[in-house]
Amino acid sequence: MNILVINAGSSSIKYQVINMDDESVIAKGQIERIGIPGSKLTHKPGSGEPFVLETDMPDHVAGMQHLLAALTDEKHGVVKSLDDIHAVGHRVLHGGSKFSASVVIDDAVKQAIEEYIPLGPLHNPANLMGIKACEKVMPGTPQVAVFDTAFHQTMPPKAFMYALPYECYTDLKIRRYGFHGTSHRYVSKRVADFLGVPASALKTVTCHLGNGSSISAVDGGKCVDTSMGLTPLEGVPMGTRSGNLDPAIIQFIMQRTGKSIDEVNNMLNKESGLLGLTGVTSDMRDVTAAANDGNERAQLAIDMLVYAIKKYIGGYAAAMNGLDCLVFTAGIGENMAHIRRRVCADMDFLGIKLDEAKNEHRGGDFVISADDSKVKVVVIETNEELAIARETLDLVK
Ligand code: AMP
Repeated sequence: MNILVINAGSSSIKYQVINMDDESVIAKGQIERIGIPGSKLTHKPGSGEPFVLETDMPDHVAGMQHLLAALTDEKHGVVKSLDDIHAVGHRVLHGGSKFSASVVIDDAVKQAIEEYIPLGPLHNPANLMGIKACEKVMPGTPQVAVFDTAFHQTMPPKAFMYALPYECYTDLKIRRYGFHGTSHRYVSKRVADFLGVPASALKTVTCHLGNGSSISAVDGGKCVDTSMGLTPLEGVPMGTRSGNLDPAIIQFIMQRTGKSIDEVNNMLNKESGLLGLTGVTSDMRDVTAAANDGNERAQLAIDMLVYAIKKYIGGYAAAMNGLDCLVFTAGIGENMAHIRRRVCADMDFLGIKLDEAKNEHRGGDFVISADDSKVKVVVIETNEELAIARETLDLVK
């Protein structure tokens, strides 16, 4: 059985076709920089040369069209027709209070995903576009939604509640939901297997650092806290999202600029973070290049991100009364040694000691802490696609 996994993010679509008989990846690829200059599809068939397409992709629909064409292409495709894809598993950002597990998609599920757009304004629309595009070109193929919020359902009330009037929780369902749950679940389990220790014995902080970033505290395999909240806006500064701020800032901006609440919301979600601070880019590779060229605002953006990550690690170590393991994952976490180095600097009081040479390694899963570091610091390639494919298979078989 072949499963197509679609992971549509705010500026990217990652995909894999997985043969679930042996969990082998028969094709994978990604579209980067959707909606920003330099859009690019990189399609890697299981065997054969990678196919790279650099063309303008203004939105996710355009991206999906190029992706499906690549999968069925005579030269670099991997299936004869889309009939050879037996099910599609979609990463879906926000399951609100309706979904604490994955589900087969029907009209009611799509409607619910649409209802939650206010809670996930960057992702739920992209997820829905992916679902609708797939339904259009492969009608009858079962589709499954795997929600980013599910792993965080084990958080205790003291972690998921906000100190608002209680009715905000009971009537409006305002609470911390958390996101990137499929990734946090996967890497926290994988790091335990990698270290040969049962997950139940580890206090772990998982840092998912990508275009969107979140940090979770995982105690004994269960999520006990996470940095994102009601929406993916809370937490550390991200590509275009502000992360934490004083809520009074919103009214202050509105009063001083005359902007509407929607305009301010758009500002916080789409014009802030690395993009807002640097004024030029949301992509950490470009921010790094600018900082290396002496751009002070780019350097400030990096300093702020590193500082915010450090504070979460310290806070979660305190919350769990200890820390055994620190995991870096996703685009920045897996690929950017300079960010990991700076996050781990001056953290010896917590038992974190980096091995500079190991930290420069690239690719796969690897330990980057020194042999005598009390806390194991590990880079784990997140594999949300495999986790989503397994859940999809469970529901459709
Ligand atoms: P993600 O959302 O996980 O795809 O991560 C995207 C972020 O990771 C962007 O800020 C990229 O600049 C950064 N990044 C750094 N190195 C890489 C890489 N080799 N591939 C993809 N993203 C990267």
